[in-house]
Amino acid sequence: MKKIRYTNQDTSKLSSVNTVLGIITRTSQPFYKRSKYILITNTPSLDCMGYKACIGLGTSNNPLLPIFINIEESELNSLVDGDIIRLGKNSLRTVWSLTTNDNALMLTESCNCKCVMCPQPYREHDPQQSKECHEILDLLKGQSVGSICITGGEPSLLKKDFLNILKRCTQEHPESDISILTNGKTFSDIGYAKQTAQVSNRKTIFCVSLHSDVDNIHDATAGGKNSHSATENGIYNLAQFGLNVEIRHVITKYNYKRLGDFAEYLYSYFPFCRHYAFMGMELYGYAAKNEEEIYISPYEYREELRHAITKLYHRGLPVSIYNIPFCLCHKDIHDFARQSISQWKNTFLETCTICEEKPNCAGFFATSKSLPVEYIQPLTEKRSK
Ligand code: SF4
Repeated sequence: MKKIRYTNQDTSKLSSVNTVLGIITRTSQPFYKRSKYILITNTPSLDCMGYKACIGLGTSNNPLLPIFINIEESELNSLVDGDIIRLGKNSLRTVWSLTTNDNALMLTESCNCKCVMCPQPYREHDPQQSKECHEILDLLKGQSVGSICITGGEPSLLKKDFLNILKRCTQEHPESDISILTNGKTFSDIGYAKQTAQVSNRKTIFCVSLHSDVDNIHDATAGGKNSHSATENGIYNLAQFGLNVEIRHVITKYNYKRLGDFAEYLYSYFPFCRHYAFMGMELYGYAAKNEEEIYISPYEYREELRHAITKLYHRGLPVSIYNIPFCLCHKDIHDFARQSISQWKNTFLETCTICEEKPNCAGFFATSKSLPVEYIQPLTEKRSK
């Protein structure tokens, strides 16, 4: 989410505590509550005492006051009361926004796959990341939260800590929709799948990436031998304990020719899933690096996608298209295309302004290295619903 750089000030207090996480407020809070909040004020004074930090146009070196961060006025105005922000050494970032449903807890950047189109390249696990997720949950306690996404890397690799975080989500926010983005391999251990089921609830869904009906194609995409069978077993184990599963299929040059076969395979072997999503690619991270080898424009596979979607639909399975604009899909399947890209990284082209379907269109990833501009065609009529 949005990152804002600081202007001039001494952040030595920040470097000593590494990072500070708090809830934005412009309203004075009772003293006993202040330790959760970061106050926005332009006048550093004793009224700032007790807050985690202050942000504003002024500066302060008063050792009695919390750290005072100075940012541009326009950036200051963009901060929203109630959002959770992280103050780093040189910049601040919103880590939980009240105004979107796109919030996520990123537990780790470590993974047991190395998918060729992964937008989130592998990094060694940093325990600070899962610690920060616990801190965010501390700050969200007692608040109404529409949805929580648990992601990585592969979040379930943290084993016990993954279970702890999932348990906190289901217990502290029993009415929230909780989605877990996973490659499913860890759940091939039936004991672990059982433990996961014990801390899940009816609002929890496991969104499992499955790259092909053919093991070699899946394994080549996931970057690991036997990944296909581990993921298949993981899905079966999750389902065996009554957990909700969504299958996610990112379309690449490796698998687009078999979209119809993949639909048949889903119907034959995984007809119990809650939802099936066929997804366009974000050209970022490994995907951008491997663009030549794996990227294909949705326009070029529109016929294969139409075939797969209609096949699942006619068999009564709930299916959607994520991350693909209407004008790159065959018109027969426009009703399955969803606005699925997180608000903070969603963009449109200039030409989209005249499109009748822009309000409902997925548009593009602003983070993608390049966009399939040559195929974009504004729609002149609204779809009939
Ligand atoms: S022209 Fe733009 S808004 Fe319209 S369908 Fe295409 S990508 Fe979407």
